[in-house]
Amino acid sequence: IVMAATNRVDILDPALMRPGRFDRQIFVGRPDIKGRVEILKVHSRNKKINPEITFQEIARRTPGFTGADLENLMNEAALLAARENKSQIELTHIDEAVDRVMMGPAKKSRVFSKKEKEIIAYHEAGHAVIGLKLENANIVHKVTIIPRGQAGGYNLMLPKEEQAFLQTRQNLLEMIIGLLGGRVAEEVIFQEISTGGHNDLQRSTAIARAMITEYGMSERLGPITYEKDSDTVFLGRDYGKSKNFSEQIATEIDKEVRGIIHECYEKAKELIEKNIGLLKRIAHYLLEVETLTKEDIDEIVETNKLSRWDNVLAEELHEEKNSEDSVKEEQNKQED
Ligand code: ZN
Repeated sequence: IVMAATNRVDILDPALMRPGRFDRQIFVGRPDIKGRVEILKVHSRNKKINPEITFQEIARRTPGFTGADLENLMNEAALLAARENKSQIELTHIDEAVDRVMMGPAKKSRVFSKKEKEIIAYHEAGHAVIGLKLENANIVHKVTIIPRGQAGGYNLMLPKEEQAFLQTRQNLLEMIIGLLGGRVAEEVIFQEISTGGHNDLQRSTAIARAMITEYGMSERLGPITYEKDSDTVFLGRDYGKSKNFSEQIATEIDKEVRGIIHECYEKAKELIEKNIGLLKRIAHYLLEVETLTKEDIDEIVETNKLSRWDNVLAEELHEEKNSEDSVKEEQNKQED
């Protein structure tokens, strides 16, 4: 097995990607909060840190940091501590180091603000809510607010059942509604929309267009194929398609596409508004944990809680209490 890594998948020679060569691609994204805790442990092995600081705490301050950023962070913190002649790294050093890493040379890696994080969380929660509420929409198997590639958040949406061959009109409409869910959630919560849903719009427009020009699903234009290129359309690409219709039909097609998108947008809005409580809960946990699995989402739906996160919080409180207790014990011993 030959493995290779690249930052520029976009310019790889197609000969490399041919079946039998580098035909498996694994996208290595930025770590989520759990990943950051583990990475921090590695980079703190030979550094002295105030034992009251937990890695969880540092991880929570560093959304969007890569492994290299975290290594840099711990080195900066150690330098700051040494400059002050301290024997161990304190929280103030880490705070200062976070700022340095964010503003400094590492600016090229995308670290985002609290507000951006909120927008992304609600956007991704919007997709998730629609997946839960619509029978045929794709359900979310994993959702994260850690940026992957070009997109802000990332949402692994898969169909409920294997439906590889046939898609009904209703299936396709619900897919579009699911894709629009992110943008609608942003609009409902912030009364504003961001550029984050760019790819969603491309994909939903491509599906709507295919419904009309390839699958003959428009009543007005009838069961006629106007374009054929079905294998690339769902990837959102638009290669030079052979046109076999007049300008007038082109206008009609555009009108129909707009009609479908509009109808789906209204439906998505209705669903989001009806389930706003669920939307807020999912977004809340996304902001806390950053990555939710399907099981996590199911648990939130059923119980309004996420036990694995609540346990972490309980543990942290417990640890804090223990360290207080041990301090007290020390004091008692000294007094004795
Ligand atoms: Zn989206």
